[in-house]
Amino acid sequence: MAKVKLKAIIFGAPGSGKGTYASRLQAKLGVEVIATGDIFRELLKEDSELGRKVKVYVEKGLLVPDEIVVEVLKQRLSKIPKGKGFILDGYPRTLEQAKILEGITKIDVILLLDVLDWIIIERLSTRRICRNCGTVYNIRFLKPKVEGICDKCGGTLYQRSDDNPEVIKKRLQVYQEQTRPLLEYFKAKKAPFVASSTPTLDTPPELIVDKIIAELKKLKLA
Ligand code: ADP
Ligand code: ZN
Repeated sequence: MAKVKLKAIIFGAPGSGKGTYASRLQAKLGVEVIATGDIFRELLKEDSELGRKVKVYVEKGLLVPDEIVVEVLKQRLSKIPKGKGFILDGYPRTLEQAKILEGITKIDVILLLDVLDWIIIERLSTRRICRNCGTVYNIRFLKPKVEGICDKCGGTLYQRSDDNPEVIKKRLQVYQEQTRPLLEYFKAKKAPFVASSTPTLDTPPELIVDKIIAELKKLKLA
């Protein structure tokens, strides 16, 4: 498929599949994915002041303060080659972040993921991630070919420390209170939406991704 200069936000609750779909869209559309959560997890590994600061929030399922997030986003955006598109995964999460984004770049479309709460909880608690390349698996519904090993790179799979029941609950609460209200803001701005819902736990990601691409084509964005 041709490279497209899409500028999109993928938006949904934790566990709605943002990362899973974004990585497939990345491969199919040749865009880059900017996942603030991934950037923070990398930072946590470092023994730096910033890493230690961020850790306190991420481990509790709380939002990292806007000024830190915005700085990280700006840096990452500046590394996108000219002519390449991107998908923001996990940004914006607050009204302030959305407003700041407007001053930085134009956004073509919001890819909205609608997933029932019970599916989200089930998914997050069974999610596994490749330590090496970040590919997302699920020990029940999106299994790797060999248990504990990444299909793509042979890396070992791990469970994120914030994918435990207590922190999952907090993250969902934070989403409802601080992030979900952004939808009203996007709607008021008349941003184009491509909405897709995941009806069952075992809906294959490819199905959703193909639907999203078909909708993007209708909008002449892919
Ligand atoms: P998920 O969407 O599954 O909750 P992410 O990987 O997107 O996970 O984010 C993990 C954590 O990183 C969040 O719980 C939060 O602490 C922090 N984080 C990521 N993006 C942002 C953001 N835009 N603003 C504030 N905190 C963020
Ligand atoms: Zn891997």
